[in-house]
Amino acid sequence: MAHKQQGYRFENDWSLKEMKDDLDGLNSALVVPINVEVKADHMVLNYDNIKQYVEEAKTISVIDCGCRTKMKHCDRPIEVCLGLNDKAEKFLTEPIYKEKRPHRISKEEAIDILKKTNEAGLVHMAYVHKDGENEGKPDVICSCCSCCCEILGATLRYGLSPHVLKASAKSETEESKCTSCGVCVERCHFGARKMANEGLEYDKNLCFGCGLCVNTCPTQAITLKQLK
Ligand code: SF4
Ligand code: SF4
Ligand code: SF4
Repeated sequence: MAHKQQGYRFENDWSLKEMKDDLDGLNSALVVPINVEVKADHMVLNYDNIKQYVEEAKTISVIDCGCRTKMKHCDRPIEVCLGLNDKAEKFLTEPIYKEKRPHRISKEEAIDILKKTNEAGLVHMAYVHKDGENEGKPDVICSCCSCCCEILGATLRYGLSPHVLKASAKSETEESKCTSCGVCVERCHFGARKMANEGLEYDKNLCFGCGLCVNTCPTQAITLKQLK
């Protein structure tokens, strides 16, 4: 897909200044595979981590995705940005978030949002901000696309961000099961999969371990393996 190329510009796109300013406030953004239909141990570890943050959170709130609302490059779900604890309170009380329709949600509703956004093909990103009071723990869990998201755009199209960390897993494809249908190519925001004359080509080095290609492969040819 063209927009995954470095330097690609949408007609309305984030400016370099906007991207850099946002990255300045960020410690890290970790790609988290949340693929509830795969029960392998390596998946459970990551899913459990994020689920644990949700379970332990005193307050959870959700706001509209500012990137998709502003850019409108796709029509994926909008009500997806989860704030935890202090960040959840900030979403609910600070005037700058008001237009993003903040409201309190339950743990079950938060998990439901993560499931639905996985189905919609969004990458789950756990953000740790520099001003976070829970050092090292994510205070925002977002569901991002590579076309609208400022942070993924900075990483994928501009090579700007050392802040986006890969998950500790990579996908593997069992070639004998692959029918070259191309579904996984559409699901992958990171350009790790493409169709060529010979069929599917997969570049493991480009895989961020998001797991989005796993549960939609019609022949169950793809698994996510934890890195040693
Ligand atoms: S970081 Fe992701 S979910 Fe959050 S506002 Fe941007 S695209 Fe939306
Ligand atoms: S979705 Fe599965 S069957 Fe289709 S190209 Fe990808 S690996 Fe092959
Ligand atoms: S190949 Fe792409 S969609 Fe599949 S896990 Fe890796 S980054 Fe995610």
